[in-house]
Amino acid sequence: MLSNQYSIQQVKDIIKADGDIINDDAISILLTDSRRITNAADGLFFALSGRRNGHAFIAEAYAAGVRNFVVKQGPEIKLPSANFLIVPDVLTALQQLATYHRERFDLEVIGVTGSNGKTIVKEWLYQLFAIDKNVVRNPKSYNSQIGVPLSVWQITEKNDLGIFEAGISMPGEMGRLKEIIKPSIGVLTHLGPAHNEGFEDFKDKIREKLKLFVGCKLVIYNYDQVTPFKDEIVADKCFTWSRTFRQADLYVFSETVISKSYYLRAIYNEQEIECLVPFTDQASVENAVTCWATMLAMGCSAVEADKRIERLSAVSMRLELKTGTNDCSVIDDSYNSDIQSLEIALNFLNQQNQHKKRTLILSDIFQSGLPEDVLYAQVADLVKSKSIDRFIGVGEALMKRQEMIQLADKHFFADTNALLAQLQNLRFRDETILIKGSRSFEFERISRLLSQKNHETVMEINLNALLNNLNYYKAKLKPGVKVMAMVKAFSYGSGTFELANMLQYNKVDYLAVAYVDEGVSLRQTGITVPIVVMNTEYSAFEKMVEYKLQPVMYSFALLDEFVKYAQLNEVSSYPVHIKIDTGMHRLGFEDFEIDTLCDMLEINKYIRVTSVFSHLVASDAAEHDGFTSIQISRFEAAFKKIEEALGYTVIKHLCNTSGITRWPAAQYDMVRLGIGLYGVDAAISPTDNGLQPIASLKTSVSQVRKVIAGDTVGYSRKGMMADNGKIATVRIGYADGYLRAFGNGVGKMLVNGSLAPTIGNISMDMTMIDVTGIPVEEGDEVIIFNNVYRIEELATQIGTIPYEILTNISQRVKRVYFYE
Ligand SMILES: *Cc1c(COP(=O)(O)O)cnc(C)c1O
Repeated sequence: MLSNQYSIQQVKDIIKADGDIINDDAISILLTDSRRITNAADGLFFALSGRRNGHAFIAEAYAAGVRNFVVKQGPEIKLPSANFLIVPDVLTALQQLATYHRERFDLEVIGVTGSNGKTIVKEWLYQLFAIDKNVVRNPKSYNSQIGVPLSVWQITEKNDLGIFEAGISMPGEMGRLKEIIKPSIGVLTHLGPAHNEGFEDFKDKIREKLKLFVGCKLVIYNYDQVTPFKDEIVADKCFTWSRTFRQADLYVFSETVISKSYYLRAIYNEQEIECLVPFTDQASVENAVTCWATMLAMGCSAVEADKRIERLSAVSMRLELKTGTNDCSVIDDSYNSDIQSLEIALNFLNQQNQHKKRTLILSDIFQSGLPEDVLYAQVADLVKSKSIDRFIGVGEALMKRQEMIQLADKHFFADTNALLAQLQNLRFRDETILIKGSRSFEFERISRLLSQKNHETVMEINLNALLNNLNYYKAKLKPGVKVMAMVKAFSYGSGTFELANMLQYNKVDYLAVAYVDEGVSLRQTGITVPIVVMNTEYSAFEKMVEYKLQPVMYSFALLDEFVKYAQLNEVSSYPVHIKIDTGMHRLGFEDFEIDTLCDMLEINKYIRVTSVFSHLVASDAAEHDGFTSIQISRFEAAFKKIEEALGYTVIKHLCNTSGITRWPAAQYDMVRLGIGLYGVDAAISPTDNGLQPIASLKTSVSQVRKVIAGDTVGYSRKGMMADNGKIATVRIGYADGYLRAFGNGVGKMLVNGSLAPTIGNISMDMTMIDVTGIPVEEGDEVIIFNNVYRIEELATQIGTIPYEILTNISQRVKRVYFYE
């Protein structure tokens, strides 16, 4: 029996559940998301109630083959031969089971917490210790109330070290995580005032975090940061590091940048020791020193610690989704490989609907803690359950187990070079390709060949931030209120099917586009949720009907035309949406037209009115609140008449992004969420970090030159150097959407941490910035905007609104989507 296999009877006892056991099955896999079921037969499904109520998804999980469930209530309909373990709180049960599992092993466990750097420090400690230990750790940043139990569940008797990070967002949470992780050694990473939401203040949150360390025999922390909380760290022994306090166990007294490395000297045990960190940014250095201190505290020699730290490699927890060559999409996860992150990446692959065919390029997996046959049997199961069409395996271990992969279309190569030599012959075309490899396989070489050429200016889109923003607004909705996500104009410039796909997967009720063509291209890339077209062209009815797009009716002329079209083409009860003009004066029926409209709708069998809506002109602006109230009452009067005439109720919707928060009483049955999804909301202070900007626009420096006072820069001699200085030419211009209005010092770009103003006129493809006094080299990254230097600020610089900045970014700027 594998060490994480339990019989249902055992589980029932451990979590003290009620309910009859029909079959005493054995389970080994914990499932919490019905959309992501693998190895259903060995799975135990926890019906957690979150935003997606877990119980509603029991049927989905059952259909996928799951027969064992932990629930709060039994299901309403009878599901044959399934076990239901009934508990008062499903999350608690999950945690109890993990706690029990953890207690069976007496391995050394490092618990990592802090405000920033938890995942990096956890991953780096893994890189440092995995050289001579069998380490188990959280997949990615699975550090929550659900993530930690799932992580701890992976412990087997093969492991001799556990490294688990813990993150919290509410009081009381760390106590629970501590019970599950039971660390013997504690590591505290950087403390920053990140978000204190849910806590009284910063101190209150730190105190909660420190609960992880209660009872540890050793705790490692930065003395300089922890001074106010020292007394709250209760441990047998503390190991401190500091840049100022000579009595710290590790006193760092000298720091120098040597080309791309960072050279540290310190006093430890009254000896001078040194360490070379292969990164130079402050956050990485601090994380590396935390790891250095941890190694020393755990008894590693200074020489060995230095040797290992010098070889640390960058941690990338993110999957990148890019446009590939030959109409492919490439998901790049070429930096780490273990069975859990493989599953996460396969789920992401599975969510992609833009191509029918799905291909996995996978390397051997190292350090799994499992016997190879068991490991690759799990890989084979995953390949099967995630509907992969083509499998490309690289490495000796996969090579030996070719027959385990049950696919006709499979290829194996001994190493990456062998695959690269055959890459042409594999003929990738119109497919989604997941590239997933252990670091030593250097799969980034494959990814570079399969991705479209990168011309250095990219807009990065953070899909996690998109989801965060969606959930941020969902939490503000009254129960039952639906969401229409506005994805017009290439999702406000941020993408096309990539975003729509993510929104569809996360169950928005409607998507909305401006024109028929936009809807057609979404349908062609696998989007199946209802799509509303705001401004249907008469000439596009046929396409609209063919692709099942739902038009907005905003005038008698359009209604007439469409009804005629429907008569001729034998279309009936076609879903349409009625737009009322309550004050915008853009599109829609006005007050005085409503009665006539009602007469027309009453007798019309060609269409069915699905919704009635209007649009607020200034939902974000307090000075127009009086007018917004008038719009609301006009809207109410209109939809009441229409519903009466129709004899059935329709979906009523009025609020755009800012309306959702400022006018909750006007949420009606649905809201239309636009710019908020992309992380901007004029009604919310940018310091409220509940919303996250999803887009970063980056480019790079192509040349740096010295200029002397009196020289001019760029077209028309507009950029006059007042003093001797230095300028950098960067790879973005007005054709990319960096408007000419930003020229001549109006706009600024972020280079190596400093803001550099533009100088002279913006050119079509290039811009010059004044980098006098800023260390800059050719090839350095230049940030036009990101989640810190925000789009709102750019909008202010040129006197426009964030909407315009975003939608102006030209389609030639490559979009890269990432998901962590
Ligand atoms: C674009 C649009 C929205 C979304 O507005 P935001 O301010 O971006 O949330 C809502 N309704 C209609 C009709 C729109 O055209």
